[in-house]
Amino acid sequence: MTKKALITGLTGQDGSYLGELLLTKGYQVFGLVRRSSSSNLERINHFSGDIQILSGDLLDQSSLMDAITEAQPDEIYNLASQSYVPLSWTQPALTAEYTALGVSRLLESIRRCKPDARFYQASSSEVFGQPDESPQTERTAFRPRNPYGVAKTYAHWMTVNYRQKYNLYNCCGITYTHESPRRGTEFVFRKITHAAAQIKLGLANELKLGNLDARRDWCYAKDAVYAMWLMLQQEQPDDYIIASGETHSVRELVECAFNCVGLNWQDYVSVDPAFYRSDESVQLVGSINKIKTELGWQPQYSFEQLVEVMVDYDLKKISKNGA
Ligand code: NAP
Repeated sequence: MTKKALITGLTGQDGSYLGELLLTKGYQVFGLVRRSSSSNLERINHFSGDIQILSGDLLDQSSLMDAITEAQPDEIYNLASQSYVPLSWTQPALTAEYTALGVSRLLESIRRCKPDARFYQASSSEVFGQPDESPQTERTAFRPRNPYGVAKTYAHWMTVNYRQKYNLYNCCGITYTHESPRRGTEFVFRKITHAAAQIKLGLANELKLGNLDARRDWCYAKDAVYAMWLMLQQEQPDDYIIASGETHSVRELVECAFNCVGLNWQDYVSVDPAFYRSDESVQLVGSINKIKTELGWQPQYSFEQLVEVMVDYDLKKISKNGA
């Protein structure tokens, strides 16, 4: 029988890749999309004819119940959130509404309307904040250091609590930073690949960055969404870290991106303290031992391959569209 999946956050980076993946696996895909005065379907336009879009918002419980009742999904992936950490400091209450309470509303809706659906919650490495060990494992204490991390921590524990209390099939994937050509340029990885392409094409001549020594655990969004799907195919629900298991510095990233376009990064990149993150999370690197051993998952793309994919994409896109 055809499996049905409901994805919240379908129009985002991960939602768009997950939608594609599930279609290739033969799923009937439903996407929860909130109303916008202009189209926000750019990332899913190429397959929007193959899926069903349901109108709904994490702020509105009845819209979630309606969507679940209509789709009758076997699997529900909650990828919707206010996902930009700096914004969570300027809009902390809204971040909590979307990212924390939105998950309560969704869990309650599942419990009432489709309790046998399998549920994936997008947790984040930001729950670890300032961790007391590195690499982090599924047993590392949560010490979030920004409103986004606090909201994700609430959502994580609510998902676990609903699993324990109501015996729901709920899983949390604690994802570390993952990137793709569909990432916004406000995120440093895409900012760098995009700028390298612009400079190569003569459309810019400098790139200002914050702390070049900041290190991140980056992987490809395509790898991450495969792990999400895999988690919901297991007999028992459980929580897993989804990461690359290694860190690279912003400096390495810059060097790699500029190498891809045949330029010396030092001629174009300057450091501007205005871009330093005040809540810089230190040594966030995930241990992927559990997911590797139990599910056989590991990233298929290396750091260098990811940089290459994104620079190539930006070069082609900018050449076609102009700056
Ligand atoms: P994204 O590109 O920012 O997408 C967020 C999605 O959430 C968009 O589709 C957005 O819809 C939707 N959304 C926001 N508020 C909503 C609301 N009130 N009701 C319904 N939908 C709403 O995020 P992403 O990078 O794909 O990340 C997916 C999930 O993983 C998020 O929960 C994020 O916090 C988490 N995560 C991501 C990373 C990462 O590195 N990417 C790392 C750790 C955790 P619009 O198109 O209408 O704005």
